[in-house]
Amino acid sequence: MESQAFLSRRVVTPEGPRPAAVLVEGERIRAVVQREDVPTNALKRDFGDHALLPGLVDSHVHINEPGRTDWEGFHTATRAAAAGGYTMLVDMPLNCVPATTNVAALQAKRQAAQGQCRVDWATWGGVVPDNPGDIEALAAAGVRGFKCFLVPSGVDEFSMIREADLREALPHVARTGLPLLVHAELPGAVNAATERLGGADWRRYSTYLQSRPDEAELAAIRLMLALCSQYGFRLHIVHLATALALEDLRAARASGLPVSVETCPHYLHLEAETIADGATLCKCAPPIRDRANREQLWHGLRDGVIDLVATDHSPCPPPMKRLEKGSFDRAWGGITSLSLALPIMWTEAQQRGFTLTDIAQWMSQEPARLAGCDPHKGKIAAGYDADFVVFDAEAELTVTTDRLHHRHPVSPYMGEKLRGVVKETYLRGTPVFAEGTFPGEASGREFRK
Ligand SMILES: [Zn+2]
Repeated sequence: MESQAFLSRRVVTPEGPRPAAVLVEGERIRAVVQREDVPTNALKRDFGDHALLPGLVDSHVHINEPGRTDWEGFHTATRAAAAGGYTMLVDMPLNCVPATTNVAALQAKRQAAQGQCRVDWATWGGVVPDNPGDIEALAAAGVRGFKCFLVPSGVDEFSMIREADLREALPHVARTGLPLLVHAELPGAVNAATERLGGADWRRYSTYLQSRPDEAELAAIRLMLALCSQYGFRLHIVHLATALALEDLRAARASGLPVSVETCPHYLHLEAETIADGATLCKCAPPIRDRANREQLWHGLRDGVIDLVATDHSPCPPPMKRLEKGSFDRAWGGITSLSLALPIMWTEAQQRGFTLTDIAQWMSQEPARLAGCDPHKGKIAAGYDADFVVFDAEAELTVTTDRLHHRHPVSPYMGEKLRGVVKETYLRGTPVFAEGTFPGEASGREFRK
């Protein structure tokens, strides 16, 4: 077996960054040792002052294949991931056709992924009104957990679920021991707000923001916390956008409920005040709220109420963004950021006194834990997969189309100056991204325990 040593003056271990050598045997980390203790026969890769982080894990991605490969697909999503320092993606069960709501659909996804992936992947299964009988079979077949929507999802083949149907599904979910990821907005508050807006101008970002108020998120989260305490399943709130829910979430966690929380780079970087009217590239649901709310989300990360940061990478063909008309009501909601999430997060985090250890925790360790990939993904430690990002934390980059590697290179971040550049990405000991190129074969595979 080939033995390699990855050296850096900033190896980001769970205990913090330090000068070290990571010894790799085949696809796994054998040990983290002092730099002088590298065996002479090991192939040495010395990254100097560039940080060596664990490969990032994105627990919220819409790959859209099979069925909507013209929006995105395994080839392009995993290429964008490798360029962004990700070594594993967990795919959402919707926007692909068929939606991943039964075992046959899961097999179709596996078929579609064959030979296309530059990084490892896994998938969530869907919980919809008519599939309580498929939940435990999906778990046995290898999904990492489940996802449901409490509001319309945006695609017809993946239905939202109401409380009564959810109560049918939850005992099955609880029996699997896997987490249920919830898009937490309730339609009542969204519909009422939209009605109040009457004939408002939908080119204005403020119209869209008012149409999806904080209360829609808050009410959904309260409902899910109550169901969590009743049914005892693992609850995960995806893409938290309102800081108003932090208090309830903090209290729920303090009381011992098995709840975890995610937010996204766009909620931590962008702000409603500076989103231009017509800028539908910034449309996502729940919406990006104001600056004060953003700062509260950062506090949520600081005090641990928010566990992790996932991209919610959700691309579409550019015409669906309705850029000429700029109409927020008709544009597809979804922001793409697989290639940029790490620099976006580092730009914001280092200004607030956070370290690369925090970044590794939010973007690798915790998403890996959510997806049940511990002790294989998420850390630089003995026994884990040799997945690494080589990161120049001091360099700056300007976002240009050649830095985006997903299918349609449009982005709300175009032209921005960001801090930190992904130099190389290694998947199980092998380079999959190096200085703008993608060496080697597509060696990514499904993560199965
Ligand atoms: Zn999503």
